[in-house]
Amino acid sequence: MVLDAPRSPLRAAELEPPRPGPGEVLLEVAACGICRTDLHVVDGELKKPKLPLVPGHQIVGRVAQGGERFGTGARVGVPWLGWTCGECRFCRAGRENLCDRARFTGYDRDGGFAELAVADERFCFALPEGYPDLQAAPLLCAGLIGYRTLRMAGDAERIGIYGFGAAAHIVCQVAVHQGRRVFAFTRADDAEAQAFALELGAEWAGDALGPPPEELDAALIFAPAGELVPAALKAVGKGGTVVCGGIHMSDIPSMPYELLWGERTLRSVANLTRADGEEFLDLAPRVPVRTEVETHPLERAGEALGRLRAGKLRGAAVLVP
Ligand SMILES: [Zn+2]
Ligand SMILES: [Zn+2]
Repeated sequence: MVLDAPRSPLRAAELEPPRPGPGEVLLEVAACGICRTDLHVVDGELKKPKLPLVPGHQIVGRVAQGGERFGTGARVGVPWLGWTCGECRFCRAGRENLCDRARFTGYDRDGGFAELAVADERFCFALPEGYPDLQAAPLLCAGLIGYRTLRMAGDAERIGIYGFGAAAHIVCQVAVHQGRRVFAFTRADDAEAQAFALELGAEWAGDALGPPPEELDAALIFAPAGELVPAALKAVGKGGTVVCGGIHMSDIPSMPYELLWGERTLRSVANLTRADGEEFLDLAPRVPVRTEVETHPLERAGEALGRLRAGKLRGAAVLVP
């Protein structure tokens, strides 16, 4: 499925099979998760995709042409971080997620909305065996960037999660497993998302713009809505942290300094490191994280993105070639 230009529908196309370069593996795609970032790319909110582009960065595939690390037949996962330079000050400091020259899967490189994909094997992950292909796909971005977002909340006990989509449904399970208390904030009338959050262990679910039932120690924002930032700052107590987990957000409204006062912290999370991925994929089966997926055939990628845009998904959407 090809994106020719932002804000145009994805097009089914027969492309030349991609050829793996040095250090790369050729993959037969078994499943590819859909992430909100894909929507930001297709909708033109992320400005510099390669074009034409095959989107998709939560790839579960089997190696068809192997490399040194993964032989033919191995099952691997390909995440958003597709390549880093290894030389810049961020790479050298263990912060490759901030690499100046990073290249991202399904953005700078063709991704997994396809039958075949290539990936640099150094950035692929071995996947935990207990997860079928479809259930493994959302671990690769919703899971591991969600996990990085949760980690940035430190040892906060009472955690608010704003926006209850693919990342939240995974992070909620991890947070509960770690003994934290989870409060889910959704659109006021989204009874379905609220019920879903309660099923997954949240102790309260309600209106994101209303008052929290009690003071929070941290808030994680996964919905791309800037007005949630002052709302979340208002909900956390002194010394609390608000973490924005998405790659794009509408403008944050002007707000009184009082909301930040009291040593509250506001920060974003950008991308992932390979260490995040290894850590999360080791943890997921021990929670155990269960992913809830809705599957769509590859050629229905446009419809699946439409369901995400409309807020109609429960859990994560996954495309199957
Ligand atoms: Zn993503
Ligand atoms: Zn670098």
